Amino acid sequence: MTRPELRLDARTFRDNIRAVRARIEPSELMLVVKDDAYGHGLSWTVSEAERAGVSWFGSYDVRTALDVRRDVGGRVCIFAWATSTDEEIDEALRNGIDLGVGSAEYLDRVIRRAGDLGLVARVHLKIDTGLRRNGLLPLEWAAAVGVTRAAEDAEIVEFAGVWSHIAEASDAEDDEAQAVFLEAIRVAEEAGARPVLHHLTASAASWWRSELRGSLSRIGAFCYGVRSADGPDLEGIAPIASLVASVTRLDGDTAVVGIGSFDGLPSTLAGSMVGTPDGSRVLRRVDHTSCVVEGWPGMDVGDEVHLFGPGAHGEMSATTLAESIDTVGEEILTRLSTRVRRSVID
Ligand SMILES: *Cc1c(COP(=O)(O)O)cnc(C)c1O
Repeated sequence: MTRPELRLDARTFRDNIRAVRARIEPSELMLVVKDDAYGHGLSWTVSEAERAGVSWFGSYDVRTALDVRRDVGGRVCIFAWATSTDEEIDEALRNGIDLGVGSAEYLDRVIRRAGDLGLVARVHLKIDTGLRRNGLLPLEWAAAVGVTRAAEDAEIVEFAGVWSHIAEASDAEDDEAQAVFLEAIRVAEEAGARPVLHHLTASAASWWRSELRGSLSRIGAFCYGVRSADGPDLEGIAPIASLVASVTRLDGDTAVVGIGSFDGLPSTLAGSMVGTPDGSRVLRRVDHTSCVVEGWPGMDVGDEVHLFGPGAHGEMSATTLAESIDTVGEEILTRLSTRVRRSVID
């Protein structure tokens, strides 16, 4: 093995999906696949999830949504919530992508594009429940609902859903956010709308706070086996990715391993434990194109070192490593360079 490898365990991915779906039912899973499926690789992830019965995908941007549509065809629903250009809106509408809409300006553009193309835009209006991160303010809500309803009467929009995003940092804040969310749904229904899709929660709140779940739950991290920062391990959930590199040379009582900071391995990880054929060893130093690991009996060129993974070789999970340098598991995964080969194992 010359290049470092991110080994992806398809079976564990399916098991995670099964555990998440069992946990959140009757709420339905929307698998979030932004950032190249959190660095795991979009194409195989989406195909595998679709085979496992996932019928909703959350892409963030329209480009990714179109990639999902290309990979799985018309059998699934896809939700893109990034504010997009007119060209992207057109492509989304032609390919049956549901659009998340969080501003009056974007709503107007989506309606105009749908009218011009003679297509129906499926819209999920986003209410700002406190995060101040793209969303209609409660003060703007009734007007946006009115505009959406009028476009629905003109048969160029289907008001498919109401959604928001919450911090998942404190229960009290999330409860307040939910109150704003439910009020927004009430206002929409009072205006004669029937948005049947309600989605508010991501991994953590979907898992632990059943009372906050809507008909859909937008979940990324837990499906990939990335637990919450400082959160406990989860029943039935395991990391699906292992980062593996091989020993390129021995240097005294240490092994030089072929992965470095240029490959996306943070140099601040020096001092962490990694997995070797003889169990946990200290990662002494991370250089640009290699790193140095404390040796083990019988170590040899070509031996595999597991930088992170489910733990079978004494390595830590991506999340545990991330915590040691004050970031989150997703961050370590999405930083890996394209030199790191992705290989899927079943
Ligand atoms: C990333 C994201 C999610 C998924 O969050 P996880 O914690 O990974 O489950 C859900 N909703 C939105 C809007 C997001 O940006």
